[in-house]
Amino acid sequence: MQGVGFRPFVYNLAERLKLAGQILNNKLGVTIEIEGDEKVCMKFLDLLKNEAPPLARIADISAVKVEVKNERKFVILESDSTGDDVALISPDNDLCGNCLAELLDLDDRRYRYPFINCTDCGPRYTIINGTPYDRPFTSMKDFTMCGDCRAEYEDPKNRRFHAQPNACPVCGPSLILMNGEGEKEESPDPVKEVMRHISEGKIVAIKGLGGYHLACDATNETAVNLLRERKFRKAKPFAIMSKDVASIREFAEVNEQEERLLTSREKPIVLLQKKRNTFIAGSIAPGLNEYGVFLPYTPVHHLMFAETSSPAAIVMTSGNISDEPIVFEEEALMERLGGIADYYLSNNRPIVWRCDDSVVKIFGDKTMIARRSRGWVPSPVFIEKKSPPLLACGGDLKSVFSLARGNTVFPGPHIGDLENAEAFNSFQRSISHFKKIFGIEPELVAVDSHPGYFSSNYGRSLGLPIIEIQHHHAHIASVMLENKLNGEVIGLAMDGAGFGPDSTVWGGEALLCSMKEYKRKFHLPLLKLPGGDIAAKEPWRTAVALLYSEFGDRLYDKHPSFVNSIGESKVKNMIAMIKNGINTPLSSSAGRLFDAISSILMICHHNRYEGEAPILLQAIADSTITGSYSFETGKTGEISFPGMLAEILKIRHEPARASALFHNTIATAMAECCISARKESGVADVCLGGGTFQNSLLLARLYERLELEGFNVYLPRQLPVNDGGLSLGQVAIALAGT
Ligand code: ZN
Ligand code: ZN
Ligand code: FE
Repeated sequence: MQGVGFRPFVYNLAERLKLAGQILNNKLGVTIEIEGDEKVCMKFLDLLKNEAPPLARIADISAVKVEVKNERKFVILESDSTGDDVALISPDNDLCGNCLAELLDLDDRRYRYPFINCTDCGPRYTIINGTPYDRPFTSMKDFTMCGDCRAEYEDPKNRRFHAQPNACPVCGPSLILMNGEGEKEESPDPVKEVMRHISEGKIVAIKGLGGYHLACDATNETAVNLLRERKFRKAKPFAIMSKDVASIREFAEVNEQEERLLTSREKPIVLLQKKRNTFIAGSIAPGLNEYGVFLPYTPVHHLMFAETSSPAAIVMTSGNISDEPIVFEEEALMERLGGIADYYLSNNRPIVWRCDDSVVKIFGDKTMIARRSRGWVPSPVFIEKKSPPLLACGGDLKSVFSLARGNTVFPGPHIGDLENAEAFNSFQRSISHFKKIFGIEPELVAVDSHPGYFSSNYGRSLGLPIIEIQHHHAHIASVMLENKLNGEVIGLAMDGAGFGPDSTVWGGEALLCSMKEYKRKFHLPLLKLPGGDIAAKEPWRTAVALLYSEFGDRLYDKHPSFVNSIGESKVKNMIAMIKNGINTPLSSSAGRLFDAISSILMICHHNRYEGEAPILLQAIADSTITGSYSFETGKTGEISFPGMLAEILKIRHEPARASALFHNTIATAMAECCISARKESGVADVCLGGGTFQNSLLLARLYERLELEGFNVYLPRQLPVNDGGLSLGQVAIALAGT
């Protein structure tokens, strides 16, 4: 990978061992020639693997013997950017320990300098315009290094050797403080000023690596509510940043693995179990058991938390209005964030590409990535089979495309919901950018078979050979590829919605599949979705349909409190729609079933953000409750739950119990599907894919059960289980056909 300090490391290692030779960067990687005593050469190889700099990720080393050249010293040769291999670019990095020490050292020339960085840290992907990764191709091109910086940059022994964003207060970028009108305010110490505003309950937009964050005091209920109001974000949880792990433990549970994730170089947002009755504002994550928490990763963040006025936790949420992509360009700043922030902490180092924070959690002993962006993008996923130049367009929600060639797949950044015009624009621009920086011109395009997806129609419009791929098959193929499973597997694909080939909406599927093909063996019950897509936003609609299908007109007597809370006339209208078959598509979606139960239990009638009803349903469940309701599988493979609804209604005043029993039932039923599928096929590998598996209670129950039954259970490792992982699955299926 370029820009991770590998060459100076090798240079210094060779010097240390008194070996002669040379090192050359090329697109394929690095070629090193060393000359000296054989034992010392072997030691060099050993140390190469074990002492590599923190950001270097060595995919493979191969060594061959060459003729002795009687060289005297070790030299670093000019980069060779010819040849058509794919160059690797480093993701953006958090501040390293050495730079942090300098940042806080009164005697250092970069004391409190907010843009301090070195070969082991700092921005990469978000400042790169083109390759090779050299200063003229980054947004640092307009800053000319001063003598001191230049000397560091040119000295192979210095840890800033060839650090492209190298800068100091004399020659580098600087902070810009602006008021709510976007007018510059002179300040000797903008960070100090900003922290004073935050501690007084103000909202500040802060420029980070991949875009702006909106920040406020996470312990101040009024400030958090004000931010919700201005951002048009009613209930979706806000991420919070805290100074260190000890501070986080004041309000959330952190186990060893979670600590490892929090402090990892990627510095993702980690989902952590809430502690009860802490100083965190209740409106940060209403109704949930979790907080999304991360640690400071830029010099500015560290300076913020070094202030004595700093609150114990600060909201750091994406700088955007509701569902728009994160704002990263100065030109769009006032237009898009004007009126939201009271102050702006900007700077004059342009962000070339937006990149959101990544989100991860620990499940059992595994890391699950919910959003793969900053810290990972644009690192590749390596695959066994060679790919032709290929673009996979992913899906429309949580959009992530992938570009592949040879043994590498480059999943793009998290883009969001393509229904949003700005997000769709970002999708197209990011694809062009990836094509350019990796030099991949697609010859083949893989799309979701949905006729109306923006991503699919974009792919179809390119005039290239197209492969249409079923949504849930792609979910499973993504997990297969990551786990190197090339034969047949049982795939449980559970999510909100995906286009089914039979004109119903799929989303609760047990498939028997290979990379090449799939057979649908079982699926969740077909629910009526009055209003189609609107049902995904209004769970009460599916709830009415479910209650009506079970009880007919008796539903008014069966569940009067539900009818009252919705309004009798609205319920009647919905029933009329169902009876007359007006815009009432059928769906086997797990998401909609969870929606309906959440609404029936009076937990959530309207989704204020995607998946709110199922998320709240899970949050309320008492996970100590065992047992489940009965289910049957029909000849067509449709699973049904006779009597479950009546039982749930009986205990509707104990939603924690009802929810747990419902979760247990779904898990048991899906496990039973796997057992049937194994009986028929002999296949014992089960892959789990689809956004419903972000539900950790369902996942835990199902996982336990499947392991107990002797299945090998697989989850994705590097990509999200939700639609963010679709494009990798599309690559896998496209390759199986080539
Ligand atoms: Zn550093
Ligand atoms: Zn300088
Ligand atoms: Fe999906």
